[in-house]
Amino acid sequence: MRIVDIRETAIPLKSTLANSSFDFTEMTTSVVAVITDVFRSGKPVCGFAFNSTGRYACGAQMRARFIPRIIAAEPVSLLDETGNNLDPAKIFDCMMRREKAGGHSERSIAIGTIEVAIWDAVAKIADKPLHTILAERFSDGKIADKVFCYVGGGWYWPGQTIKDLQDEMRRHLDAGYTMVKMKVGGLPLDQDLRRLEAVLEVIGSGKHLAVDANCKFDRDESLRYARALSPYKLRWFEEPCDPLDFALFADLTEVYEPPLATGENLYSTQDVENLVRFGGFRAGRDVIQIDPPQAYGIAQYAKTLEMLSRRGWPRTSLFPHGGNQMSLAIAAGFGLGGAESYPGVFGDFGGFADDASIEIGTISLSERPGIGFEGQARLYRIMRELAAL
Ligand code: MG
Repeated sequence: MRIVDIRETAIPLKSTLANSSFDFTEMTTSVVAVITDVFRSGKPVCGFAFNSTGRYACGAQMRARFIPRIIAAEPVSLLDETGNNLDPAKIFDCMMRREKAGGHSERSIAIGTIEVAIWDAVAKIADKPLHTILAERFSDGKIADKVFCYVGGGWYWPGQTIKDLQDEMRRHLDAGYTMVKMKVGGLPLDQDLRRLEAVLEVIGSGKHLAVDANCKFDRDESLRYARALSPYKLRWFEEPCDPLDFALFADLTEVYEPPLATGENLYSTQDVENLVRFGGFRAGRDVIQIDPPQAYGIAQYAKTLEMLSRRGWPRTSLFPHGGNQMSLAIAAGFGLGGAESYPGVFGDFGGFADDASIEIGTISLSERPGIGFEGQARLYRIMRELAAL
């Protein structure tokens, strides 16, 4: 068997929302199709992925380096030992040829998106859901049937009132979620605290509410927010400051006892290791939110988990960023703390299978082979067109 073609296209997300730091009006994502010569029901098996949300499309690197390297490789050199399926680790090594150390995010998103599409193909060829394949390879075969899932919501939008925000949170609870996250840092602290208290009235307890500052604050403002938020004992306080300011993270852990969270803007195992070595991040308390398609993909994610495990971190402290079926399959397959959901936020790229159900804060998993994009009609239309299926 072999990879026949790898295609990519950039699609706009068409979102009008904003966090504390930027709006999403220009946001795009790269959709990737890996087309194989394996046939099922008369059609070629194709693996799909996209580069999650929050980072722009990265087709230039894919077209110039990573896709040509894979296509030029001897096909048999990319197969596993059975010769009947692709080997994601060999394909990763092929993409990394002639790449210099460091400088991760220049390539980690392009490579990670292709790598996740390869896994989708691998699972489809094996005729199993991706979460099952991952559980077999990385989690002693412990196969989840549902995953804890919380809503990343509470955005800022023009003309929004406190009541609008409370209504949004009520909708999430009515939909079956038990935990929500809201943005902070888009308004002065006193107004953000009024929003927070209004949401707590709906949610009931800080245990079920996280806040996300999207890296907005400088040192003084981070510490000021940390001190002000501390008494609410929130589930976590996400991205208070620059994602690489490990010294400031360490200082924040001195003044902020409840969990801190970060990781969606870290792109390598080494970056995450630096966070836990130098950022004061507390094993078993704080939360790490790497986005696997943006950080070299699933096999690298497994290596990051191994590193964290050596440093005493339980897998339940990891909540992959993304709010999509890729992160959901990864959360299920590796037995992580849970997944994020962005209901109705990122157009065709937010959300899960059309038939997924949320019950008491957990989401059901698709039994479709692969990641399960085929069960997400609007997104799958884009993927099918790209692959000309
Ligand atoms: Mg975030």
